[in-house]
Amino acid sequence: MNTKIVSLNEDTIRFLVDGVNAAFANSLRRTMVAEVPIMTVEDIFYFDNSSIVPDEVLAHRIGFVPLTTDLDNYVLPEECDCEAELGCPKCRAGLTMDIEAKDDTVTVYSGDLVPEDPSIAPVSKRIPLAKLAPGQAIKFEAYAQLGQGKVHAKWSPVSMCVYQNVAFVDVEDEAATKECLDACGDDVAVIEGGVLKVIDIQGFERCRRCRELVRHEEIIGGLKKDEFLFTVESTGGLPPERIVKEAVKMLKQKLSTLKGKIEADDLHDEIRDFDLPEINEGKLYSVGSGDFDEDEGGNEEPQGDDVA
Ligand SMILES: [Zn+2]
Repeated sequence: MNTKIVSLNEDTIRFLVDGVNAAFANSLRRTMVAEVPIMTVEDIFYFDNSSIVPDEVLAHRIGFVPLTTDLDNYVLPEECDCEAELGCPKCRAGLTMDIEAKDDTVTVYSGDLVPEDPSIAPVSKRIPLAKLAPGQAIKFEAYAQLGQGKVHAKWSPVSMCVYQNVAFVDVEDEAATKECLDACGDDVAVIEGGVLKVIDIQGFERCRRCRELVRHEEIIGGLKKDEFLFTVESTGGLPPERIVKEAVKMLKQKLSTLKGKIEADDLHDEIRDFDLPEINEGKLYSVGSGDFDEDEGGNEEPQGDDVA
């Protein structure tokens, strides 16, 4: 397996993975989306909320405000030894808000959240949360925890995480293609040994000259089955390269657990707990469908509510 970073900036990483199948690429994608933890507000205690936004709606909005995450100094609440319902300083970080509109209407922004620990703070200060009319106020204490996207989407560290195949196409006019590629950039396509490697198909087809030199059908016909371009965009909680690294670490851990279980022939413990309900084959309906007893004669018309 080979990897190569195509581009990296503050919130997006694009990289190539060569020598893996689509199942592996998808496992990596799913680990990034649903397993890599970030910090997000989970509990809120209101002291005052006289705005027109109901408590639950405001809490939901605040839950989706991306917070910068310090993965090295916090642990998941379920892995913390405190076992406290509200957590301890190792598994939660506090944020407070105390804002009141005096004479004018005030817009409450994510920047009005005051973090207890500066490393767990809103990524953007300009996310509107509510509006206050004169005399209205919002005052609360919030607790952020690490969590995973598979539990709630607010804990997903990525706003986009996709992969696509790269394509290899034979070019007829190498000089003309090279000239065009110089303008488009080598993160879009490169020429390797007389063959055009299209890394970013959308980016390539955005250029009219490239599009004229290589037809779309040729690109689709030249898709390589075992090389992928990943695009991972972070919500801002973690640097994008950290999300990839953490996902690889977690996937490795999962695979070694699976390997251990296979070697110990211990794959049935999860399945054993899953009791199948007894199926009465004479009945079409079981739970909550009223009385449908077939023994009571077949010609009777079902009556009243039982039909529904
Ligand atoms: Zn704890």
